[in-house]
Amino acid sequence: MLVRPLLLPLWLMLSVPALGEGLPDLGEAAQVEISPAIERRIGEQAMVEIRRDPAWLGDPEVNAYLNRLGNRLAAQIAESRQSFELFALHDMTLNAFAMPGGFIGVHTGLILAAESESELASVLAHEMSHVTQHHLARLINKSGQSQIAGLVGLAVAVLAARSNPDVAVGAALAGQAAGIQSQLNYSRDFEREADRLGLQLLQRSGYDVRGMESFFGRLQKFGRLYENNAPVYLRTHPLTTERLADIGNRIQGLHFRQVPDSLEFQLVKAKLRAAEGSAQDAVLEFQSRLDGHKFSGSEGAVRYGLARALARAGKLAEAERQVAELRRLKLGLPLIDTLAAELRGKQNDAAGAVNILRAAYARHPAERAVVYGLIEALLDAHQPPAALKVANDDLLNYSADATLYALQARTYAALGQHLQQHRAQAENYVLEGRLAEAIEQLELAQKAGDGSFYEQSQADARLREFRQQLVEEKKLEKGK
Ligand SMILES: [Zn+2]
Repeated sequence: MLVRPLLLPLWLMLSVPALGEGLPDLGEAAQVEISPAIERRIGEQAMVEIRRDPAWLGDPEVNAYLNRLGNRLAAQIAESRQSFELFALHDMTLNAFAMPGGFIGVHTGLILAAESESELASVLAHEMSHVTQHHLARLINKSGQSQIAGLVGLAVAVLAARSNPDVAVGAALAGQAAGIQSQLNYSRDFEREADRLGLQLLQRSGYDVRGMESFFGRLQKFGRLYENNAPVYLRTHPLTTERLADIGNRIQGLHFRQVPDSLEFQLVKAKLRAAEGSAQDAVLEFQSRLDGHKFSGSEGAVRYGLARALARAGKLAEAERQVAELRRLKLGLPLIDTLAAELRGKQNDAAGAVNILRAAYARHPAERAVVYGLIEALLDAHQPPAALKVANDDLLNYSADATLYALQARTYAALGQHLQQHRAQAENYVLEGRLAEAIEQLELAQKAGDGSFYEQSQADARLREFRQQLVEEKKLEKGK
């Protein structure tokens, strides 16, 4: 059986029938019996599966944006050392979910449905509060499960529900998730707690607290509009009215202000919109917004979306003209550079792409999409030694960047250095929680026979380390 992640989707929380009055004792967050290490392990295991899911977007620009937003919220969490990793899934249903260990998934449909950055932030703040309050760990505890494999398996039904509620309900009834129903009885209170703490985070980090009320309110209206075909989590939801009233009451006591959306929020939305539906429709939509001066934000975001839609439609010369307009606007965002380089690449001008990205990398050395793009462009331009130098230099500062190791492995492959290729691939796997596969790669590295004495002993040492780690992980998974 595939190991499936344990998810806490919004829709599930919203669709739990109301129980008796009064708040049951939720217990102290500190009393959670599942250690942070085990929570992290469950989350990492779930992520291995999620990264293989066809819905995995893997867009470093979208994910970087979500994490910047998440970090701004997380900075306001007192006393917490919880780390977060936010990521987007390509799915037009409106959903977001949190997993143990701080992993938070956001559907592209939800990002597109957010009419303001504060609305998006409100959902993230709510999900992050589920994590900091260890709501999932507490649900797991209630299930009486003690082995990680069992814990992750428990959620099969919930994951299947990500976009297909009927499958989930069927699976849940079939007993795969026995006991999950009773656990959900706690969720109404968890929801209320996540709303309350989420609002605090929103306010402290300077977002418009009304974003939570307007977004959840709109989601509820959506549900009424579509009845049985409602977006996944908006089915029967007597809770929503009550929750909305709760949120409304809390907001009344808070100061609020209009908060302008960041340009990055607008560009990320435009990027996602341009990739959706037919390329032709996307072009028409952005073109009509541009013609009608309906920017509902910045002109730059509309031109950026138009350029991306044009590029998709194969109208590269027109896309280039929009990029020239974007340059004139001096937005100062690396998203423009990566688009410009992408257009060069589509026109078989790898050297042009390299030039654009080298300049962008000098200005934005922390921007992951830029360094990944630069390494790829150098490989396209048949300059693997230069690609390797960029990868190695960048790894000095970003030694936990899994994607960078995957690119380094590709670069070594292009150079015909097999030991180093497998060693780099092993580093990519271990950072993505795939320890057994990392060990396989190091065994291949040992057999490659094309490394120096130093490289050989480096790989041997790493292999010993990983094998020891595997032994310890097995112990942890047995819950001992
Ligand atoms: Zn929730």
